[in-house]
Amino acid sequence: MNSWLSARMDDLKPSATLALNARVRKLRADGRKIIDLGIGEPDFDTPAAVKEAGKRAIDENKSHYTPSAGTLELRKAICAKFSRENNLDYAIDAVMASNGAKQVLYNLFMATLSAGDEVIVLLPYWFTYADQIKLAGGKPVFVQSKEDFQPDLNKIRAAVTGRTRMIVLNSPSNPCGVVYSREALIEIGELAVEKNFLIASDEVYEKIVYPPAVHHSIAALDKRFFDRTITINALSKSHAMTGWRLGYVGGPREVIKAMDDIQGQTTSNPSSITQGAAVEALANEQPEIPLMVKEFAQRRELVCAALEKMGVKVVKPSGAFYVFADFSPFFNGVSDSVGFCEFLLEKAGVALVPGNPFGMPNYARVSFASSRQNLAQAMDAVAAAVR
Ligand code: PLP
Repeated sequence: MNSWLSARMDDLKPSATLALNARVRKLRADGRKIIDLGIGEPDFDTPAAVKEAGKRAIDENKSHYTPSAGTLELRKAICAKFSRENNLDYAIDAVMASNGAKQVLYNLFMATLSAGDEVIVLLPYWFTYADQIKLAGGKPVFVQSKEDFQPDLNKIRAAVTGRTRMIVLNSPSNPCGVVYSREALIEIGELAVEKNFLIASDEVYEKIVYPPAVHHSIAALDKRFFDRTITINALSKSHAMTGWRLGYVGGPREVIKAMDDIQGQTTSNPSSITQGAAVEALANEQPEIPLMVKEFAQRRELVCAALEKMGVKVVKPSGAFYVFADFSPFFNGVSDSVGFCEFLLEKAGVALVPGNPFGMPNYARVSFASSRQNLAQAMDAVAAAVR
């Protein structure tokens, strides 16, 4: 039978975490108690002042189309944020807002990739990069990182070809929480200058960093890096605002203009109400954020200690709220992490995201965006199941 679908659907996989969410919901509806550690969003409320700003936007009837790239007020707040917090001085027409970082990335790949262009993606990677690159006609080229998840410059250099158009960096990282060292970022930046490719720097977890780790924006390290870097951010993780949908970006004017043209022909502006809230989120300190990060830091200790006690080798994350660990010594009859996570779901009632969609099938991702009580119970149940 003929399919109604385009050839581009042949290769597109549904988001692994959204698929897991659906599975967990189904099991719960069937009456099973499941502790979901597959969660990819903070389990905290949006800061109070930001919520108030959203309500004000409704009351002030900010209910009309805005410029596709966002209101002037919001774009000014984005410029000021980049300057104040990242030491990046973007002009007003070099920034824009979108419906989450996901749309920023999609606009970016659509705007810059031609058929067959190669994009270097470092393993382990957030799976959406690979699917979006392919949707845009590009080819992801995967490069394994070192054991501590820092980038391996020799391997990256070896992967560069005449078709290399871009490298995607994600620090702090989903799924492994690595925060790239300043030295590693400089090496990558120098390579990008030498070989003339773009740098996409996804910094959505920048505020969730555990000392002594420090987050660096690669574009701030050298003017030559700034000129070829697209800096991507969002309120989703930093401000516990995943559902509001607000991503933002700064980069070379020509690229931002093309991204805005694509957005103008697809979704137009992100929600006008969300934009009202976003101005407050970006312009002012939100006291809830450091408290959230402090709580994540304590949970990180809890989860890492519990995993180590089970005999899992842990690279302690320096940022984000995930531990990505090798569970293969426990596979016991199953061939990869998909089977292992299925086993844990059935036997322990704990949901983890398998490492396969992140490019590392011996690993699984444990999210600590869940209460300490839940985490302790889940770790006990996993320990019992693997025993
Ligand atoms: N980038 C990374 C590394 C992520 O983990 C996510 C969400 O999981 C996003 C971007 C997407 O963020 P948003 O919800 O703002 O689209």
